[in-house]
Amino acid sequence: LSILPMALEQPHHDTQLHFLVIPLMSPGHYIPTIDIAKLLAQHNVRVTIVTTPVNALRFGSILHQPIKSGLPIHFLELPFQTEKFGLPEGCESLDDAPNLGMAKEFFIAQSSLQQQVEQYIETLNPKPNCIISASFLLWPAETAKMFQIPRVIFDGMNCFTQMCNHVLHLTKVHETVSESESFVLPGLPDRIELTRSQLPFAFNSGSKDVKDFHEKLLVAESEAYGVIINSFHELENQYADEFQKIKEDKAWCVGPLSLCYKDVSEKVQRGNKSSISEIECIKWLDSQETGSVIYACLGSISRVDPDQLVELALALESSRKPFIWVVRAGPNNTPKIEKWIEEEGFEERTKERGLLIRGWAPQLVVLSHVAIGGFLTHCGWNSTLEGVCAGVPMVTWPQFQEQFFNEKLVVQVLRIGVSVGAQNVVHWGEEEKSGVQVKSEELRKAIEIVMEEGKEGEERRKRAKELSVMAHKGIEEGGSSYRNMTRLIDDIRNQVRLGN
Ligand code: UDP
Repeated sequence: LSILPMALEQPHHDTQLHFLVIPLMSPGHYIPTIDIAKLLAQHNVRVTIVTTPVNALRFGSILHQPIKSGLPIHFLELPFQTEKFGLPEGCESLDDAPNLGMAKEFFIAQSSLQQQVEQYIETLNPKPNCIISASFLLWPAETAKMFQIPRVIFDGMNCFTQMCNHVLHLTKVHETVSESESFVLPGLPDRIELTRSQLPFAFNSGSKDVKDFHEKLLVAESEAYGVIINSFHELENQYADEFQKIKEDKAWCVGPLSLCYKDVSEKVQRGNKSSISEIECIKWLDSQETGSVIYACLGSISRVDPDQLVELALALESSRKPFIWVVRAGPNNTPKIEKWIEEEGFEERTKERGLLIRGWAPQLVVLSHVAIGGFLTHCGWNSTLEGVCAGVPMVTWPQFQEQFFNEKLVVQVLRIGVSVGAQNVVHWGEEEKSGVQVKSEELRKAIEIVMEEGKEGEERRKRAKELSVMAHKGIEEGGSSYRNMTRLIDDIRNQVRLGN
């Protein structure tokens, strides 16, 4: 624990609250958790982020400047023994794992931090006032209980998804239908129809292990003090109100978190070192007409089958629109799709209007450029909300977990997206088996509808722009999310006063 002195030596006021933040080792969770830390510190809360060497460098670098300027954020950097848990050396984030079937190894490896975190808390007087962690991590619940610290869950999901999960757990309606039979989720403000094969793993895995794990998650969730949501109230007000009721007011919509960065120089560092220089990327975007470019990125951990990616490439080509395609499909699949690109001369054929980003795209920089007219997304919630902030309509292509819920929210409730028509979640570790699920023709059609100039397209674009304005207002001082952040901090302060 050589790092301990660093975390301890920072001066602080007795009245200043101290939050311990424990991110899950996957970009879709790590990135917004870092944002939460920044926002809390801007509200004068002292924040300690539990991290590991590679992740501290990768995800933490965006905070170096704010820390230098005085934000009270510290890193508790703990050694992480990857090999001991069957992970490749230096592999500290799920997107670097050879396959997503290794998620379990990650959870187990991350549990090995428990003892070190508890030793750290032992040394503190007073103890931290709050722990923020993902419900997927069960051990922080034990740690919080042991030290009697209120624990707040952050899972990166919106209120709409929380409500979908809630009614499924409550009614078990999905257990009454076959895999492909569609059913309506009862009791929601909108008529949301899905099939079982589109549900998150917790509801359609069939594996006893997964079911048992989710039972434990539910218990840990019910014992938590509350839930932080990366969304803003105006985006999904009916769902936010309902969720708030269920959580007895201990739910705080504090997003969109991505809006806590203003400058391009900050945005470009978010999540990883960008694979394209900021200058080159902006130069290319500047050379395109306003609203003309479709940006295609399927998130940080998707391992889409190379044959399926070929369909996407062909769709981008045949749509005849300028495009940016983020080519990354994991250690096994990326070389295969690269081979196809090379052998088929795809890049050469489309070079007049296509930009391929190989590796990590500076997504916030790209989306906030006026040249972007549409976002083809896998409906991960961070990406979806970043699309909302950018005010662009979306082509929705959900892959796994709660992404089919997010698609429903975007397409049906908010009416700012067009679905490519995906039918099934792709189970982690089974990407290769899934093959081609959506043909290039269907992808092209959805792209064209989103980019079209007709009345429907215009209205979709207008709605998207309106939501973007609301998103920006929400996070500004006095906005709903800003006020919710204050409410969260006040709630924790009251807990401290009550001696809890
Ligand atoms: N992201 C990025 N560049 C990439 C891929 C992803 O900046 O090339 C960011 C994206 O902006 C988002 C996060 O990584 O903040 C991905 O989270 P999301 O919830 O969308 O999907 P996941 O990766 O968890 O499936």
